[in-house]
Amino acid sequence: MDIKKLLRDNIKNLKPYSSARDEYTGQALVYLDANEIPYNQPYNRYPDPLQRDVKEKISVQKNVPAENIFLGNGSDEPIDLLIRAFCEPGIDNIVTINPTYGMYQVAADINNVQVTYISLNDDFQLVPSSLLEAVNKHTKIIFLCSPNNPTGNCLDMDSMVEVIDNFNGLVIVDEAYIDFAIEKSLLPQLSHFNNLVVLQTFSKAWGMAGIRLGMAFASTEIISVLNKIKYPYNINILTQQKALELFKFEENKESWVKTLVEERGKLAEQLKEFPFVVEVYHSDANFLLVKMHDAKGIYDYLIEQEIIVRDRSKVHLCESSLRITVGTEKENEILLNALEDLL
Ligand SMILES: *Cc1c(COP(=O)(O)O)cnc(C)c1O
Repeated sequence: MDIKKLLRDNIKNLKPYSSARDEYTGQALVYLDANEIPYNQPYNRYPDPLQRDVKEKISVQKNVPAENIFLGNGSDEPIDLLIRAFCEPGIDNIVTINPTYGMYQVAADINNVQVTYISLNDDFQLVPSSLLEAVNKHTKIIFLCSPNNPTGNCLDMDSMVEVIDNFNGLVIVDEAYIDFAIEKSLLPQLSHFNNLVVLQTFSKAWGMAGIRLGMAFASTEIISVLNKIKYPYNINILTQQKALELFKFEENKESWVKTLVEERGKLAEQLKEFPFVVEVYHSDANFLLVKMHDAKGIYDYLIEQEIIVRDRSKVHLCESSLRITVGTEKENEILLNALEDLL
């Protein structure tokens, strides 16, 4: 696929800002090129605009070449940049599943790009033919989310590949929760599809939502577009340093994921016991979607108990459901005890 043909003309013709750090990248004796003051090391210096050290670590960890990695201020940044680069405001559109993560719609709205929603089926699964039928000549991007938020399940791999294979535009697969799933990531497929973008993040399994670091994996054609239009220094020094530290503690992440998956199973079993719980849906993520009688009433009651969950009862296919993040054993017990007091 010719990625350039999909781009907005102004982006295709854009001459990006060239920062001091872009123009000279080697080691030097003195740096007098960026109007930084010479004191307060190391924070006086602008960060590496391409975050080479961090990408090198991610590259080894994910087995993806560094040139196929883009780092953003959370996943939110590549979501916005991709829409901005490829969708002409007021003309182009994106297609996504319903229900799904709300940021795709917000980013599209900000850019005056229309969103077409295609319902998942009753098993919360993707119907590739419906999605592909919704595409028209102004559809530039299809957003998928697997495991999906707020339903919690992975989308079927073959269905996703069918969409990627048959769509003449970008397919973005948001894998924010992939660490909690048994199903495989689409990352190994990256080299087969130059229209595929896989999003992952440090915000969930890594426990680093506060440092704002998201990853986009894609063909070099797409990565170079993102690099061209991003803010020159989009990832600050503190975040880059913290990320480098993180990789030394990868066992932590693995053990957190293991614990949370166990807790997810326990919590699901215990929730099923309540007479007001209609269904606890299968989850491949670190949260549970729970259908219950009077979801809104229970949501309000929990807030009175200072226990905050997410009310999804107004969301398509999630009617009468709450989304509950899996916490520590203690936190989950507090929730379960509060629910028991309702009996
Ligand atoms: C939480 C979440 C993210 C994470 O976004 P960041 O900007 O990286 O914190 C991305 N996608 C989905 C579906 C999420 O639920």
